[in-house]
Amino acid sequence: MDGFRFACQPGCTVCCDREGRVYLTEDDLSRAAAWLGMSRDDFEARYVVRTRHTLRLRKPRRRQCHFLQNGGCAIHPVKPVQCRLFPFWPELVERPTAWRRTAQWCPGIGQGPLIQIGQAHEVAAEMRRAYPRLYEPR
Ligand code: SF4
Ligand code: SF4
Repeated sequence: MDGFRFACQPGCTVCCDREGRVYLTEDDLSRAAAWLGMSRDDFEARYVVRTRHTLRLRKPRRRQCHFLQNGGCAIHPVKPVQCRLFPFWPELVERPTAWRRTAQWCPGIGQGPLIQIGQAHEVAAEMRRAYPRLYEPR
């Protein structure tokens, strides 16, 4: 691969409705709470699952994310790091087959200008820094 092409498609919310978990950083939690005019504690009690090493959004029944509302993200300006950086996640940019598999359902992959490999890896590194416990070697 010479690089990656990606441009998120207006009106698309496919990735928000895929089976999976949405992890948060502590800063994501603070920003989302403030955006919704809630205290951190109230936001966490209502929307977050906290484990020993991670924070993630609770899932509503039969849907993937509480904040996928009216065809868009209700916290778009403050959405969690993993949402903002998709699809430049380490597990995708470091594995061409995983990138191609993701392209089968994300209509933004293959669109837009060419993004150099180094640039894509820099974004992926931001993901690793945001969620160190998710990426540490097991
Ligand atoms: S599936 Fe791809 S194109 Fe659609 S919203 Fe997600 S990142 Fe954008
Ligand atoms: S927080 Fe927003 S961008 Fe992230 S999965 Fe939920 S609706 Fe999609």
